[in-house]
Amino acid sequence: MNQPAENPNESEHKNFIEVEVERDFASKAALQGRSIQTRFPPEPNGYLHIGHAKSICLNFGLAQRYGGKCNLRFDDTNPSKESQEYVDSIMTDVRWLGFQWDGLYYASDYFQQLYDWAEQLVREGHAYVCDLNAEQMREYRGTLTEPGRNSPFRDRSVEENLDLLERMRRGEFPEGTRTLRAKIDMAAPNFNLRDPVLYRIMFSHHHRTGDDWCIYPMYDWAHGQSDSIEGITHSICTLEFENHRPLYDWFCKTLRIFHPRQIEFARLNLSYTVMSKRKLLQLVTEGQVSGWDDPRMPTISGLRRRGYTPESIRNFCETIGVARFNGTIDVLVLENAVRDHLNKIANRYMAILDPIKVTLTNYPEGQAEELEAVNNPEDPNAGHRALPFSRTFYIEREDFMENPPSKFFRLKPGGEVRLRYAYIIKCDEVRKDASGKIVELKCSYDPETRSGSGAASERKVKGTIHWVSASTAHCVEVRLYDRLFQSESPEEAAEGKTFLDNINPNSVTAITAVIEPALASLPSGTRVQFERNGYFCIDEKDSKPGEPVFNRIVTLRDSWAKIAAK
Ligand code: ATP
Ligand code: MG
Repeated sequence: MNQPAENPNESEHKNFIEVEVERDFASKAALQGRSIQTRFPPEPNGYLHIGHAKSICLNFGLAQRYGGKCNLRFDDTNPSKESQEYVDSIMTDVRWLGFQWDGLYYASDYFQQLYDWAEQLVREGHAYVCDLNAEQMREYRGTLTEPGRNSPFRDRSVEENLDLLERMRRGEFPEGTRTLRAKIDMAAPNFNLRDPVLYRIMFSHHHRTGDDWCIYPMYDWAHGQSDSIEGITHSICTLEFENHRPLYDWFCKTLRIFHPRQIEFARLNLSYTVMSKRKLLQLVTEGQVSGWDDPRMPTISGLRRRGYTPESIRNFCETIGVARFNGTIDVLVLENAVRDHLNKIANRYMAILDPIKVTLTNYPEGQAEELEAVNNPEDPNAGHRALPFSRTFYIEREDFMENPPSKFFRLKPGGEVRLRYAYIIKCDEVRKDASGKIVELKCSYDPETRSGSGAASERKVKGTIHWVSASTAHCVEVRLYDRLFQSESPEEAAEGKTFLDNINPNSVTAITAVIEPALASLPSGTRVQFERNGYFCIDEKDSKPGEPVFNRIVTLRDSWAKIAAK
């Protein structure tokens, strides 16, 4: 655990899980002399998403806070959907978020132990081999209002069950023909207790155990016992497992093994986002996005590539807290978290996304000067840089209006505006092409108004705009990302439609922007603010040396108020 608590007040605020944990350590005999042990248990069947980040922050956070340990455990019990690629990506993402696990485990490490325990249940009369197929089993299970019926195979002798189980394991029976079930109570109001399946036959190659096994444990049979083996004191999971808890408890009790406490919390849902691995996988396989790390994906790798910082994601998880009831968090909260962090750490630069050329008719041709720009007003240590200025430069098309409304304080015919770090200029003439599109503005500048040059520079005009000098500008690709989904709850698709129909057709726009030269030589992965435009990150995959590609991370909260006229 290398992540110190950043917020000094953090220790005063306790979420409900922390309250429960403290109570347990104060009162439970079984916990005396132990310290907290948690785990983050992903199934390696996809890349991690922002919802997993919440679980990671929670599990690692508990261990940090109470001086305990947190394991990373791969819940790899369903080989048909799992792979080493996913295992690797999960480790990368957990580390990138700033956490280091204590133990690294795989549920598949415990396959033999789980099998031994299954035999123990059989020997003690608590499990049986059942020959019902999936459909018959559904019929026997009963409904919410009716109890289930006992399987006709429920009363097999211990010897017969042991023999059949072993033959299942040896691969004598085809898939779907037999299962091992716990013998609990077919009339239990909780469906999970109606003789749940422990093992199913699956002739699948496992990414770690190869072809050693052709029966694989169900989640419920593997999860709690894996927790128990690792001495997990608190097994934190999401609410959908609340009604699996009686089964979790039944297994630990019946096997007489160390009994972790399962505590459930609400899973994170975000507006304008889908958050299930199955759906994210579908976006990838159907080519709706460029991959799991597409910068529009809510995956950790997508957010990383987009330019999110680990700190901003951890802060986000801290801000939203831990709830006992499911709800949806506004995606704005996530966007604000990255904005807040980048405001502190990102250097500011000039970039023009939609340029119009400006020529200063009274600025001597061939003359150039270097102005001094502040890298980050929020960080005194960020220093200054030289900003080249000359007779011709670009401004944003939207910073000029030919027939503006009265409150328009940027450039207009006959009007003045200040160029950030430079001079006050006045628009004298508008040049258009045959189609009427503005192609150039002829302006004049007031040489007495250079920023920081003394009294004359204090002359005030209402607007300040950014610009990029033409002779030293670089042209680069900029990807303007927007939300991947246009509906607030994309999973709630209209009749006959799917979540894919809610995709925002304009979730990315690639443009060519002009940037100041200092931006062109920054390394991939660098996060910057384009003044007045937003926060951008140099794409790690598609950039080449000297040819950066910029991803828009997020727009500025308020692109105007922040820049005081200088
Ligand atoms: P998904 O439903 O997205 O496929 P999952 O629950 O199947 O996710 P796992 O790999 O089993 O994914 O999850 C690992 C851990 O992360 C589990 O403890 C799970 O409860 C937790 N987790 C998964 N999704 C969320 C979420 N949206 N919010 C909080 N925790 C989550
Ligand atoms: Mg799962």
